[in-house]
Formats: sequence, structure tokens, C-alpha cells
Amino acid sequence: MYRIGQGFDVHRLVPGRELWLCGIKLDHESGLLGHSDADVAIHALCDALLGALAMRDIGYHFPDNDPRYKDIDSKVLLSEVMKLIAGRGYEVVNVDITICAERPRISPHIDEMVKVLSAIMDTDAGNVSVKATTTEKLGFTGREEGISAYAVSLLRKTC
Ligand code: MG
Repeated sequence: MYRIGQGFDVHRLVPGRELWLCGIKLDHESGLLGHSDADVAIHALCDALLGALAMRDIGYHFPDNDPRYKDIDSKVLLSEVMKLIAGRGYEVVNVDITICAERPRISPHIDEMVKVLSAIMDTDAGNVSVKATTTEKLGFTGREEGISAYAVSLLRKTC
């Protein structure tokens, strides 16, 4: 039995915040605003994983008004989502993430991002795709007002 899911997220870019994407901290003059570390790519990925099993979204499982999740490392949220998936008897076949950001350049960091995510998801690096694109200076991502991310996941029943 296979299940497919998709996720999408946006966070605003502001000065004075760290920029976390796919579990790693990037050197940049601004960062994403949010209750957690605002890792927009991990949030989209979590929603794709939950969506595959019709298990609502990360806002439902980890409310942004809950002080337990204030400034939380989104890798912890991903690891909690993986427990929910495993609890339903599913494992990851593959995931595919697209980050939309004008700056900074994501490509030099993709190998490390894949390593971090595949370790948390307990799957081969070859099952984790991270891609990035600019939006040609168009829209809120193009104006560097925020960063958006899309993710798709495929899960397989293990038993
Ligand atoms: Mg989010």
C-alpha cells in the first residue's frame, strides 16, 4: 500500500533571526520569522508526510501558541512526525523538496541538507531530494520578503 502527500509553507524573512533551512543554519543577513526556528523546508516536508496519511498538518500536532514549541529546532518536529508515521506502520519511499528563495544560494548546502534529513527519516540519502529555485525576482520570494517551500512524499506500508 502506497500513499502520496504534498506540503507547502511560507515564512517571512526579517533581520535579527537565524536562517534555518532543511535542518542547517545558513549564513545570511536575515532569517525566517516564526514560533519555532521557522525552517520552512522542514515544515513543508512534515506536512507532506502527514498529508500522505491524512493526519492533518504540523500546526495541528504542534500548535504555534504552545510554549513547548517556542524556538524549537524543526528537526525535532520532523522526528516526531516520523514517529507518527511509523506508528501507522509506514516508511518513507522518497521525498522531494523545492525551496523558493532569491538569496542566499542554496545549492552549496544541498548535500549537507540531504544528509541531515535522511538521517532523521532513517532512509537512504538517495531517497531524499532537495532542490532550490529563485522566482526570478518576482513575487514575495523574489523581493526577499520571505521564503517558500514545497514538498512531496511517498510512503509505503511496512507490514
Ligand atoms: Mg511553518
